[in-house]
Amino acid sequence: MSNHVLLRGGRVIDPALDIDGVADVLVRDGRIAEIGPALVPDDGMPVRDVSGLVVTPGLIDLHVHVYPGLGDFCLHPDRVGVQTGVTTVIDGGTSGVSTFGLARRWIDDPDVQTRILAFMDPNQIYFATKDFICHKLEIANDPRNLDVESARAALEEHADVVIGCKVRACSTDDPRRSPFLDAAKDITGDMPIMVHLGRFPFTPTIPTSDLLAALRPGDVVTHAYRGASGVLGEDGKVTPELRDAVDRGLRLDVGHSGTDFRFATARVLFEQGYLPTTISTDLNVFNLDKPVVSLPETMSKIWALGVPLVDVIAMATANPARVVRRDGELGTLASGREADVTVLRIEEGAIPLSDGFETIVAERRLAPVGCLRAGTWIAAA
Ligand SMILES: [Zn+2]
Repeated sequence: MSNHVLLRGGRVIDPALDIDGVADVLVRDGRIAEIGPALVPDDGMPVRDVSGLVVTPGLIDLHVHVYPGLGDFCLHPDRVGVQTGVTTVIDGGTSGVSTFGLARRWIDDPDVQTRILAFMDPNQIYFATKDFICHKLEIANDPRNLDVESARAALEEHADVVIGCKVRACSTDDPRRSPFLDAAKDITGDMPIMVHLGRFPFTPTIPTSDLLAALRPGDVVTHAYRGASGVLGEDGKVTPELRDAVDRGLRLDVGHSGTDFRFATARVLFEQGYLPTTISTDLNVFNLDKPVVSLPETMSKIWALGVPLVDVIAMATANPARVVRRDGELGTLASGREADVTVLRIEEGAIPLSDGFETIVAERRLAPVGCLRAGTWIAAA
């Protein structure tokens, strides 16, 4: 397949390069060669007319579940990835340490076109299932499930694809401390830790206030805009713990999921200045059809709440690249970079968008047209 192409006449939005305007994008040998007006294709180079469309760096979804067969939770990586214009997905801790070799088969599968990176759960055994089996059997809160040295070794062994840890902040003896979070802090160094807001069934987790206080600059809270999560006080204002954590550099991630994003919560938090650093879906088998659909659909929901389009695109390109410390490779169309490029259509009209609880009517929506993954065109399915 060709990895040379000229994308002609699109509206190129690259927040990292501070570009928003009509331009051509020239891709040679799978890499970005040049962005500019009226570029001339090389001899024989295919030209794709993208006029009237939006051209962005390859979209990055910071939170998905993409190791089919490991539990019953996962979607095929390309289903949530390149088929919806998303060139990089980051698995949100579907696998612990002892099954990571199986997870890795998906990451390394030459038939998978989507780039996959991973947050690894620091437990030996963790995998995501609908019935929360690791919580039901109380594996997720059993300190015998932790082996800090082998978790550390796994992070090193898989450092090419593991960009941090996803922690379920379960407690054991002390209801206000999570040895699993402590272990992750011990082994991750500069890499981020992602945690959930909200609780798990069957196993106790530390209170949100203690969780926020324990997180470090650069760590990520996903499901940040869910209901009843303990980040808003009775007066409707953010709690001091959230304010302090964000002031220290904690990142807020959307992590839409089935029941973990609410327009109502987002409106309140946005109004107080708590915008997401990153927009992600938490796509899995149980929320794909509704209410999540795709990353572009989730971006559309944030756009519909009044966040400018350029910022929405930053939240799914430059920002997640920086959060996972891959901004040297991902998240921009800078020349020389691997040509991961997303092409989106802006659909206009009265468009219903649902968070699973509330349906709003937006004036427009982003829909995927296709993407280049390392310079090769893949049409959206
Ligand atoms: Zn998840």
